[in-house]
This record gives sequence, structure tokens and C-alpha cells, in this order.
Amino acid sequence: MELWFTEKHTPTVKFSIQVDRQLYCGHSEFQRIDVFDSKEFGRFLTLDGYMMLTEKDEFIYHEMIVHVPMAVHPAPKKVLVIGGGDGGAVRELTRYQEIEQIDLVEIDELVVEVCKKYLPHTACCFGDERVSVYYQDGLKFVRRCEQEYDLIIVDSTDPFGPGEGLFTKEFYGNCFKALKEDGIMVNQHESAFYQDDAVAMQRAHKRIVDSFPISRVYQAHIPTYPSGHWLFGFASKKYYPIEDLKAVKWNALGFKTRYYNTKLHVGAFALPNYVEELLKDVE
Ligand code: SAM
Repeated sequence: MELWFTEKHTPTVKFSIQVDRQLYCGHSEFQRIDVFDSKEFGRFLTLDGYMMLTEKDEFIYHEMIVHVPMAVHPAPKKVLVIGGGDGGAVRELTRYQEIEQIDLVEIDELVVEVCKKYLPHTACCFGDERVSVYYQDGLKFVRRCEQEYDLIIVDSTDPFGPGEGLFTKEFYGNCFKALKEDGIMVNQHESAFYQDDAVAMQRAHKRIVDSFPISRVYQAHIPTYPSGHWLFGFASKKYYPIEDLKAVKWNALGFKTRYYNTKLHVGAFALPNYVEELLKDVE
């Protein structure tokens, strides 16, 4: 007998991974949570049937969402992560000595508990003394923050279900307000390849462009996300992602990374023409 996890990437396109066994299945107040084990991708987490991360390719997403802004901001001390209950973004952030405080706002406590148990390679750094976890809606959390953070990382689910509010104009406006005068916000920006995803990506992009003076998009190859071609948003009050890259400083840290490097950092902002056009249409 064969057991397969299948996610519909469009009404007529399916992505499947053969499953060795299901390690966890549960329902929280917000969503269904599953963890599977597989030969090719190792363990993987899905929420409401949507792929969140696999052990094999999570390093790409987490390195790109953390090291790109960290290599640009000259002195990041206080960081806010919204979503990210798997702990992968927190893991990458804790590598930086210069960060003094990491606040993680995750709506679903059960995601964190399940990841600590079944995905210890990502959920490994919640015990770091600089990390505080708040089980709240990120949309509500940022409403009351003012000029507090150097960096905000929006590591959310897709723009439906509990993550919907994290793609609104109100949310981006509040992130702007929550950042210090030279703050940076990065977000997972969805994909531009399939039509429905492209429309959602454009909607989010327009709202970010309306909220921040500097707004750029960068890309990575993430095999288990729809189309494998994923975008990230880089929105900022002062710094530009390439012009203000501190490559010498970042390389001197001596971090061992598997995807990110400072050459790729520059290249990641060079987008395919069809993506540039989709972005231009809403800028
Ligand atoms: N990298 C992943 C992706 O794009 O598929 C996202 C991973 S992470 C597990 C996303 C997290 O965001 C989930 O744990 C979910 O519970 C959380 N989340 C969704 N909506 C939220 C909200 N409004 N406030 C805070 N966290 C939220």
C-alpha cells in the first residue's frame, strides 16, 4: 500500500510526496495540524493541508527570510517575528550575537508544541534567553507597538484562514509604525507563477508599496512550495537591499549557511521579466 500527501497547487495541478508514516494529527482552535515523515523530504509540517516546511528544504526559506535583512541593517537589536511557530526564523536569528531581543508572536500555541516535539531541528532555539513567545494574533499585537523594532519578519501562512489579516493594509501600516526610523520589514510574498497566487501576491505588494517608502522583492527556489519559485518582500524606511548590503561585515561573521551568501543576496533581487511586470502593474 502507498500513502501520499497531496496538495492542490491549482484546481488542475497537484503536488504529492510519498509518506512513510503520519507522526501527528490534531486540531487547534485555528487549524488542522499534521506532521508526516517521508523518504525524500524527511519530516514535514502541514497546516490545513498546506505545506509549511520540510526538513529537507526549510533551510532555504529560513535563511532567506532572516539573513537578507540582517545583512542590510547596520545594528539590529530588537526583532519581531510574526507567525513562524516552527521556530526556523528564530533559529537563524539567534545566531547573531548583536541581537538583544527576539519577540515571536504566533497565534497558535499548538503549532509551537507540535514543532518542539516533532521538528526539533527548527524548533531548537525557543529556550534562548533573548526569545519571548506571545500567543496572540499578530494583527492585534502590532497595533499597540510604536517605534520599537529594528526588524519585523512576517513569517505567516497564506492570505486566508488565520493568516488573512497579515496581508492587509492595516497590518502593513501598523508594522511601519512599529518599526524604528530605520527599520526593515520582510515578509513571505507568495509566488507569481500560478494565476491565483500571482493575484494574491500583487494585492499584498500594492499594500506594502503604499505603506513603505522603499519596497523591493527578492526570490528563492523552494521545491515544496507552489511552482517552486517563491518571493519575499523587503520593505524599509531607510535602507536599500543592495546599496546598503554590508557584505564585508556579514562575511566576517563566518556563518556556515547552505543557501544564503552575499553574492546570492544581490542576485536574488534580479527578478524574471514576467515578475517585474506583475509588480510594476501595481506599483
Ligand atoms: N514558511 C511557512 C509558509 O509560508 O508556508 C509559514 C510557516 S509558519 C508555521 C506560519 C505560522 O503563522 C503558523 O504557525 C500560523 O499559526 C501562524 N499564523 C497564522 N496567522 C497568524 C496570525 N494572524 N498571527 C500570528 N501568527 C499567525
